[in-house]
Amino acid sequence: MIVPFITGDGVGVEVTPSMQAVVNAAVKKNYGDKRRIEWKEVLAGERAFNETGSWLPEETMEAFRTYKVGIKGPLTTPIGGGIRSLNVALRQTLDLYVCLRPVRWYQGVVSPVKEPQKVNMCVFRENTEDIYAGIEWEAGTPEADKFYRFLHDEMGVTKVRFPETSSFGVKPVSKEGTERLVRSACEYALEHNLPSVTLVHKGNIMKFTEGGFKKWGYELAEREFGKEIAEGRLVIKDCIADAFLQNTLLIPEEYSVIATLNLNGDYVSDQLAAMVGGIGIAPGANINYKTGHAIFEATHGTAPNIAGKNKVNPCSIILSAVMMLQHFGWQEAASSIEKALEQSFTEGRATADLARFMPGGVSLSTSDFTKEIVARIENKNND
Ligand code: NAD
Repeated sequence: MIVPFITGDGVGVEVTPSMQAVVNAAVKKNYGDKRRIEWKEVLAGERAFNETGSWLPEETMEAFRTYKVGIKGPLTTPIGGGIRSLNVALRQTLDLYVCLRPVRWYQGVVSPVKEPQKVNMCVFRENTEDIYAGIEWEAGTPEADKFYRFLHDEMGVTKVRFPETSSFGVKPVSKEGTERLVRSACEYALEHNLPSVTLVHKGNIMKFTEGGFKKWGYELAEREFGKEIAEGRLVIKDCIADAFLQNTLLIPEEYSVIATLNLNGDYVSDQLAAMVGGIGIAPGANINYKTGHAIFEATHGTAPNIAGKNKVNPCSIILSAVMMLQHFGWQEAASSIEKALEQSFTEGRATADLARFMPGGVSLSTSDFTKEIVARIENKNND
């Protein structure tokens, strides 16, 4: 299997090789010579800019197009120069419309909530629409003024309180965009025998955008999954976003697969991640289930404050690789990595960001932690 990868900037140089060592060990242990990942490095970010003059070279896009599934470390967001964000550019070019964030607790990881074992959700965040589409104009510019004039003169909008000093943003939410996201969430729930899909929205206030998401979501589910719903194999429900954030703390066991819009998804994913151990351990992927294109990724940034210090937690990209192995159907390799990590956490052995909160925790460097995980996998300590 050829897998293109982007090492990434900052701590990417540390976490990506750690992930590769762990994945290689798990694949070898479980499949011997029968299966192997051939890593194909492609460039993006600061390193790509320094070496090629482009933040996102065409060869990189071509590799992801050709090989379909890849993985990436964190990238520096260029300041100026026309690229808003490399991650957004990758998602848009490959039309990766689902941002998938599974959230579960690993034994041994200290959590700010009393019963983190009750948190087991998979967030499907819409990745291409909403206020995130980047359609906005800054206050005081001729564009903002023109947009306001259109609203006022042609659409009869009189509700803008301070038109002279207002910036404006546009929030597109479509039926197609909603349907493909909700369809993927329902299919995922059924494939993984998960009990429910919850549509999270603010349709009580934004009636046509967020309300449209809820309406189109329910209609799609009824039309395409009516049989499964009638048989009790799938429950579709909805929750207003603010109530949902409360409920994640009060009754997390009520939720399984979450389907939501882009901005809600951003807040929801980070809150849930914090409930099970925080930024260093949350995995993610951006996927187009129709074309099969998928990029698995570390969800944290380049962490310049700790880069080069051999202390970064590599678990986010390691667990993203676990998702990738599951995506390939290489379940055995994925499970042996999860078991090795959980065993390590249970013994209080982790990088400093996690170990400092564990009773009697031992803080390991990134390289020592990686060596221990590889050894646990190789020694089958985790049987
Ligand atoms: P960040 O995620 O890099 O860091 C936030 C804080 O969390 C820092 O204190 C950092 O040390 C800590 N942290 C992050 N990951 C950690 C890990 N694995 N282990 C231990 N501690 C960890 O966010 P930031 O500082 O806002 O952003 C830095 C740069 O990264 C910016 O250029 C930003 O645009 C970029 N960024 C990239 C991505 C991506 O590529 N997916 C995501 C977010 C930010």
